[in-house]
Amino acid sequence: LAKKLRGEQDTKEPFKNTRVIAIGSGKGGVGKSTVTSNLAVELSEMGYSVGLIDADILGHSIPQILGIKGQKPMAMSDGTIIPINANGVKVISMGNLIEKDEALIWRGPVLGGILTQFFNDVYWGELDYMLIDLPPGTGDVPLSLMQQLPKAEILIVTTPQITAADVAKRLGFMASKTNSKVIGIIENMSYFICDNCDEKHYIFGKREGEKLSKELNVPLLGEIPLSTLVREDSDKGVPSVLDERLNMKDKYNLIATKLL
Ligand code: ADP
Repeated sequence: LAKKLRGEQDTKEPFKNTRVIAIGSGKGGVGKSTVTSNLAVELSEMGYSVGLIDADILGHSIPQILGIKGQKPMAMSDGTIIPINANGVKVISMGNLIEKDEALIWRGPVLGGILTQFFNDVYWGELDYMLIDLPPGTGDVPLSLMQQLPKAEILIVTTPQITAADVAKRLGFMASKTNSKVIGIIENMSYFICDNCDEKHYIFGKREGEKLSKELNVPLLGEIPLSTLVREDSDKGVPSVLDERLNMKDKYNLIATKLL
């Protein structure tokens, strides 16, 4: 069976019939993994077949956000790995492959090799979308990914804060150098709606996502508010698009629809 499964996957051209979207950010902590997870779950809710690679190998947070922390993927006798199903999304993350809290100190070439294994040694089956959660910044992994999968389209997550947008811009320029296409910006933590006054508070500044999208000449696909419930959800391992207390489903549905 393992051989048969492998035979179905083209290792020379991984994800041949799949739309690959890599999600990057200028710096850590802007909510890139949160946005990636919710977008993946929403695409799956819309009926698409979705895979998710947590390529933030050293700082993996996808298992926590999707509530699959501690789960181990199954492996076939020849080493082919079966991804974990999280709310309909097929997920692979280093966080599910190593022992708890093991420190990872690998460098560039090793990290690039792990990515190749995630592409080829995991049985993905037919996918409509493959989302890849990149590590923050413009280091070895994003570069290696763009070289290995030039067809990958790049989505940038930023906050309205000027420094975050500034580094995100560099990612945009790096993508243009490797001929990868930046397809849009998602601004996270755009504003906070106060429980007491219903007013939008622009804690991290205003409209930086819009400015960045103009500079890179790509659309601003959505603005996600800062919400205590979003943070609680990811601490509990529940994707916010499935949390009925929030209107995140509508927000992500709109973003996903713009991507189709
Ligand atoms: P990154 O992948 O960019 O490092 P994460 O997705 O891990 O960022 O998010 C960092 C922290 O911010 C997490 O604790 C997460 O729950 C929180 N967070 C992300 N987006 C939001 C939001 N819109 N509202 C509130 N908290 C958020």
